[in-house]
Amino acid sequence: MTLDDLIYKPGLLQGERILVTGGGTGLGRVMAEAFLMMGADIYLCGRRGAVVEQTAQELVQQHGGRATGHACDVRQPEAVEQMIEAIWADGGALTGLVNNAAGNFVSRTEDLSMRAFDAVANIVMRGSFNLTLECGRRWLAEGRKASVLSILTTWVWNGSAFTVPSAMAKSGVHAMTQSLAVEWGNRGIRFNAIAPGLFPTEGMSARLNPQGGEHVRADNPMGRNGRMPELANLAVFLMSRQAEYLTGQTIAIDGGQYQATGGNFAGLASWSDQDWANARSAIESRNAADRQQRTA
Ligand code: NAP
Repeated sequence: MTLDDLIYKPGLLQGERILVTGGGTGLGRVMAEAFLMMGADIYLCGRRGAVVEQTAQELVQQHGGRATGHACDVRQPEAVEQMIEAIWADGGALTGLVNNAAGNFVSRTEDLSMRAFDAVANIVMRGSFNLTLECGRRWLAEGRKASVLSILTTWVWNGSAFTVPSAMAKSGVHAMTQSLAVEWGNRGIRFNAIAPGLFPTEGMSARLNPQGGEHVRADNPMGRNGRMPELANLAVFLMSRQAEYLTGQTIAIDGGQYQATGGNFAGLASWSDQDWANARSAIESRNAADRQQRTA
C-alpha cells in the first residue's frame, strides 16, 4: 500500500497507539499498515510470535515509525493481561484496539464437535471480550478516551449456513459493540465494527474456500471482491478522532452483497420483464377479486 491509496493527510493518527489482534496477516496486517502510515504506533498480536514480529519489521522497513509484535493467544486472559501490561509499560496507554483475530472453517453443522465449536467461538467471542475488558478497565480507571473496532461479518444480520459457530460468535461481538457504545459512551470510549464482504486473504481461502481458486460471487452487485485499500480507508476513518460522534455501528463494506443475497426474495433478481409483468397482473387480479368480494 502507498500513501496514494489512502484518502487522508499523513499524520492523521499521530499520537495514537493502536493494537491490532491477528495483525500479522491478512486484513489485520492491512489495517495496521494503514494506521502506521497515518502516524500511529502499532502493536500486533497473534499466536505465532515469529509471524507478528516479521510483519512489524517489514512494515517499519517500508514506512518507518513504530511497530511491535507480541505472541499472544487472545483466548487466554492471563496472556492478554501480560501483553496489555507490557504495552502500557512501553510508552503509555493504548488509544485504540482492533478486535480482528478470528478462526473459521466451513462444515455441516451436524458434523461439528463441541471442540470445533469452541475453536471458533472462543477466539472470536472470548478473545474480543478479553481484550476489550483488559483495555477498557484501564481506560475507565485512567479517564481516557479510546476507540474499539471489531472486524465482524455481514452474517451478523442474516446468519450463515455452514459456518454457524462463527455466525453466532460474530453476532455476540456485534451485540457487545452496540451495548458498550452505550455503557461506556459517557466516558468517551467508542465502539464500532466493520463487516467486510469478500477480501481474499490466504487465511480466509484456506478454510472457507478449500477448493481453491479466486472466488468472486456472481451475485455481488459490483461484480468484484473488495480491495484492501477500501477496507484500510474505512478502518482509518473509524479509528480517527474526527469520527468521534460515530459509535455503536457495524458498517458493511461488501459491494452491496448482503442486501442482494440476504433477503427472502433474493432469487427474484433473475426475473425477466415478462416475469414481472405476469406477477403484476396476477397481483392485480387478486386485488380485483378481493374488492369484488368486499362489495358483494
Ligand atoms: P487471517 O489472515 O487468517 O487472519 C486471522 C488472524 O488471527 C491471523 O493472523 C491469526 O494469527 C490470528 N489469530 C487466530 N487465532 C488467534 C488467537 N487465538 N489469538 C491471537 N490471534 C489469533 O484471515 P483474514 O481473512 O485476514 O481475517 C481477519 C478478520 O477479518 C477475521 O475477523 C475475519 O472473520 C474477518 N473477515 C474476513 C473476510 C475476508 O474476506 N478476508 C470477510 C469477512 C470477515 P495466528 O494464527 O498466528 O494466531
